[in-house]
Amino acid sequence: MKIVFKNGLVWTGDGLNASSFVVEDGKFAYVGNDEVSGADESVDLMGAFVCPGFNDSHMHLLGFGRVLSQVDLREHSGSLEEMLAYLKTRIVVSGQWLIGRGFNQDYFKDDARLPSRSDLDEVSRDVPVVLTRVCGHMCVVNSKALELAGIAGYEDGRFYDNDMRLIFDRIPAPSRSDLKKMIILACEKLNRRGITSIQTDDYCVFRNVPPSQINDIYLELEREGALTVRICEQCNFTTLEELKSFVDSGEAKKASELFRIGPVKLLGDGSLGSRTAHLTKPYKGSSEYGFSLFAPDRLQEMISYAHNNGLQVIVHAIGDKCLDEVLNAFEKPLEALPRPDHRHGIVHCQVTREDQLDRIARLELRVYAQSVFLDYDNHIVEKLLDPELLKTSYSWKTLINKGVSVSNGSDCPVEEPDCLKGIQLAVTRTSLDGTGPYLPHESFTVAEALDSFTFRGAEASFEEKVKGRIREGQLADFVILDKDPFKVDPKDIRKIKVVAAYLGGHKL
Ligand SMILES: [Zn+2]
Repeated sequence: MKIVFKNGLVWTGDGLNASSFVVEDGKFAYVGNDEVSGADESVDLMGAFVCPGFNDSHMHLLGFGRVLSQVDLREHSGSLEEMLAYLKTRIVVSGQWLIGRGFNQDYFKDDARLPSRSDLDEVSRDVPVVLTRVCGHMCVVNSKALELAGIAGYEDGRFYDNDMRLIFDRIPAPSRSDLKKMIILACEKLNRRGITSIQTDDYCVFRNVPPSQINDIYLELEREGALTVRICEQCNFTTLEELKSFVDSGEAKKASELFRIGPVKLLGDGSLGSRTAHLTKPYKGSSEYGFSLFAPDRLQEMISYAHNNGLQVIVHAIGDKCLDEVLNAFEKPLEALPRPDHRHGIVHCQVTREDQLDRIARLELRVYAQSVFLDYDNHIVEKLLDPELLKTSYSWKTLINKGVSVSNGSDCPVEEPDCLKGIQLAVTRTSLDGTGPYLPHESFTVAEALDSFTFRGAEASFEEKVKGRIREGQLADFVILDKDPFKVDPKDIRKIKVVAAYLGGHKL
């Protein structure tokens, strides 16, 4: 089957534009401006903009699927009565936990108070129910949930912050079929946003589901024809023992056409918003510095072990103190056992100093940025960061200028997996409500932003030879947009619609 797509505005990523291309056997067989004959089918693009399929280079697909499969209460909380009635309609299987999120008692018209255990007992006495408030810092459960969790002393069924783990740690691991449903739900959403490839850190989402099971589920979905996104698993481990047993098990060699094992992923510190990112200068107006999640020696052990075993390693670092520790931990094994093209990297790389930007370039690390974070972070950086650090943070353009490969992503479900919004924020550095721009000299061009969501992502998983561009011989993963991002006002890029997405030449 040979399909020609013609009369398009094709951004190939190769620095040239084409008007047509041919797809054959899942790959681009021709890209250019010539008249093509002998095709089995012809698609008139009618001037539409086409670019390579989007690649979200850091997200949590299972986490996204979990959010999508929970009961979303935001639209059903006009009153306490309405919410309880809605919940009754959502009970499907007796015995399975009913997990909801998104109510705000301030909006209950009938009774503006937090729901309690006895309210939820009205919903069910045999199905355990847990509802998390819109903010995520409070949950309420029914009697059945308390009984199953084996907890006493919470008469009103309400749990706050750290206490919430008493409940969430007791919720049984999702079944294989639940996990499959979550992945399918999430893939559908990604396809609608033009995403054809993701790099996803899933092992951290349900710590009671073994990594091998998650890998097998992806492979099974692919065999069933239900996997519609190319998956690169960012393998998250918290101890050297876990990492070693993963390597020894041979799990790292699992691969198929749509699924591959990617880098080892380590979580270095927390986030700015929760003041847990680890800084060298205290959070403004406080004496807090945040903290790192690994002691430097442990981090060193894990990075060295992974590097010495030929694995790629990426580390989440948001604060500059954490980044210092991560750079130190990369430097030693890279000096002792140099390896060209290691493609180790930093995920987020937000609060940085000039000397660190140079060091990232010198160590040939890559960066997994999330430009979409600027939408929220524009509102908090000045309030939280020391003025010195403020001058050189979120400096992804400076990194590009220093020769660093910067890919882009959403960290979904932290943010929606909306690449067009990510492109807009990378270009404008300004929040949707107009706040900012933060360090406008760090703005990407539209081409750099598109590149960060396509080719750079492919490079992050060693796949730039097979995907990431519209080029002869590459996989025919592409998106059709209703407007040209180079022509619309940058502050309207996010309004561009995805008309269609194709994976290996198949319309999704
Ligand atoms: Zn993440």
